[in-house]
Amino acid sequence: MLKIENYIGGELIAPVSEDYLDNFNPATGEVYSLIPDSDERDVGNAVEAAKKAFPVWSKMSAETRHDILMRVSALIERDLDALAEAESVDNGKPKSLAKSVDIPRAVSNFKFYATAAMHAASEAHETVGQAINYTLRQPLGVVGCISPWNLPLYLFSWKIAPALASGCCVVAKPSEITPMTAYLLSKLCIEAGLPAGVLNIVHGLGTKAGGAIVTHKDVKAISFTGGTKTGEWIAREAAPKFKKLSLELGGKNPNVIFADCDYEEMLATTVRSSFSNQGQICLCGSRIFVERPIYEKFKADFIEKVSQLKIGDPLDESTNIGAVVSKEHLEKVLSYIELAKTEGGKILLGGKSAKVSGRCKNGYFIEPTIIENLAFDCRTNQEEIFGAVVTLQPFDTEEEVLRYANSVEYGLSATVWTENLSRAHRMAEKIASGIVWVNCWLLRDLRTPFGGMKNSGVGREGGFEALRFFTQEKNVCIKINY
Ligand code: NDP
Repeated sequence: MLKIENYIGGELIAPVSEDYLDNFNPATGEVYSLIPDSDERDVGNAVEAAKKAFPVWSKMSAETRHDILMRVSALIERDLDALAEAESVDNGKPKSLAKSVDIPRAVSNFKFYATAAMHAASEAHETVGQAINYTLRQPLGVVGCISPWNLPLYLFSWKIAPALASGCCVVAKPSEITPMTAYLLSKLCIEAGLPAGVLNIVHGLGTKAGGAIVTHKDVKAISFTGGTKTGEWIAREAAPKFKKLSLELGGKNPNVIFADCDYEEMLATTVRSSFSNQGQICLCGSRIFVERPIYEKFKADFIEKVSQLKIGDPLDESTNIGAVVSKEHLEKVLSYIELAKTEGGKILLGGKSAKVSGRCKNGYFIEPTIIENLAFDCRTNQEEIFGAVVTLQPFDTEEEVLRYANSVEYGLSATVWTENLSRAHRMAEKIASGIVWVNCWLLRDLRTPFGGMKNSGVGREGGFEALRFFTQEKNVCIKINY
């Protein structure tokens, strides 16, 4: 059986413990590879390798760093089909989605930050008649990047690329649930000629390998994407050590639909924003609020469209809904559907696990589920489910729907559908979330600041924000004798 290896000091190596964990294919329920069960010794070795590489990498010209990162990007693009298949097998997502979204985005992440490194600039402040100040932005040193299982290579590269572009050396950990494309990336980095130790990938459990990265004294910053509870733990550990933190956490995003919207476009996009990747995207809109005059029509049309989605083998090109990432996650999502019932929810569609025949007969599949008749403040509408479950609720006024939208502890993203420009601006200003999409969803420009408000996190990724995160600013003040 294939053994995934750690990538430390430029080499693919076994964990010090020589212990491995099972890696499941969620579409079949079978173990198909093994993952290093790394611990603080592996993390320690990775940090040492990164420290050794830092003096050279951080002083390399931006152009040379650019050339290497562009080679990584080109190799990901060359292997797009194989990486998409690996992502699909590891995660359960339809291969077509990995091929059109996940892997192309990993290509773009490296390309974007390779070129950004060439354009990064800093400020100068003239203290008229006395001095000139300039800001030096120096790479932090060794940094930790920890990413989740839902968009494995997409989010892994979203952190690693700016860290490397800024001149930092990295110790990174993908989720142990979806380690495969990070492993394949380590092979591509070797092929691209990334110097040894610049990027180190340690596989293993969150609490063990991930925790060791967070607590290591020589790791200067942590860029983390994952659940709010984990983010809270990381913040508590990192605070007394004064580490820099970027935390991209959970969401419970509202999708607000006004009666004057472009109905057909809204309907098609709402199907995607609800159920893409089996609802396992932190930006999915799971609370759908519909203005009362179109509520019944929307409900009927939405149910009809969603019931046409094909649940099936993720490797089948015609599949819309693949497998849920793990058995534990399937059970969590199903438990929320049961909770919704006890809270008075009416299941309009789905509501149970789905059976797929053939090689996927033991896989973890769930029917896309639509629920109505729930109060905006019940647990189902307040807690992150992170699965193919959405709730519908009618509203009458802007004030009312704003109260619903902002009632949760999260503030990651929101979508507003209206043709009324002033209303779009009013809503965008008042919804408490890091992104507001108007008449679209998941339309991303990598230059924009990305991150959450409230319990959805602190810090922003994207654009030059991410490059700045991985650097330390220093004010140099030079007195001028006139
Ligand atoms: P987790 O918080 O469980 O895990 C995220 C990563 O952290 C994984 O690599 C995990 O490893 C690791 N980890 C777990 N515990 C620790 C620890 N104590 N110290 C260090 N690392 C640790 O989240 P999930 O993987 O379950 O991802 C789903 C969550 O991610 C959802 O809440 C979702 O909303 C959020 N998310 C947020 C996004 C955003 O941009 N704001 C984007 C995508 C997802 P392992 O898996 O091996 O345990």
